[in-house]
Amino acid sequence: MLKYGITLKGGEAMSEPIKIAYLYEDLMNTYGDSGDVKILRYWLNQAGYQVQVDNVSLAADFNAADYDFLFFGGGQDYEQTVVARDLLRHKATMQAYIEAGKPMLAICGGYQLLGDYYKTSGGQTIKGLGILPLHTVFKADSRMIGDTEFETEYGTVRAFENHSGRTYFDDPKLKPLGKMVQGYGNNPEDGVEGLHYKNTFGSYAHGPILRNDNIAQAIAKLIIENHQARVGVPA
Ligand code: GLN
Repeated sequence: MLKYGITLKGGEAMSEPIKIAYLYEDLMNTYGDSGDVKILRYWLNQAGYQVQVDNVSLAADFNAADYDFLFFGGGQDYEQTVVARDLLRHKATMQAYIEAGKPMLAICGGYQLLGDYYKTSGGQTIKGLGILPLHTVFKADSRMIGDTEFETEYGTVRAFENHSGRTYFDDPKLKPLGKMVQGYGNNPEDGVEGLHYKNTFGSYAHGPILRNDNIAQAIAKLIIENHQARVGVPA
């Protein structure tokens, strides 16, 4: 039993590794977001599971249904433009994955690309996946940078943000991941951070965010449950 009342066990009997798809790892990895994947690997190993991480980059074959977890890190505007062009190929399997309640974490630029569009610093509009009803607009005059703290259903999360994109929800039913205590989060007006839709999490929190054990363990638990459902739990 780990902290936060989450029991992570059952991996000893499983032969197939937990499979994580790291979307565009080589292009989308600002401010150490790859640490999120390393931290999850740690917790999943602690629970007795082997973990395989696949870098799904430009032109790669990819079917979200083959994975137990999707991770999409942050990126600069230029890289986002390149990634967005390739990403749209995967909309159908990613949408089915997200709607089925399978776990995903998308940070900053990755989070922005789950939405309808991102209007960049150059005034260019990047088409996002359009899976979640949100959009992002770059504002050059006030970059949101610094330490953040927000309250989530898992407890307090402390992190770091650095973005000029302001994200707005286009459906009032969409729920944020947390309420800001310090920093900006989605935008300077709404006082909320990120997104929590089914088992998909979006966030502006770098640091990496999963250095916060509460949310890291909650996501590790979701991954294990999804893995067990995918490969079948031995009797
Ligand atoms: N380029 C985006 C912005 O500035 C995302 C930045 C990031 O992912 N770190 O809003």
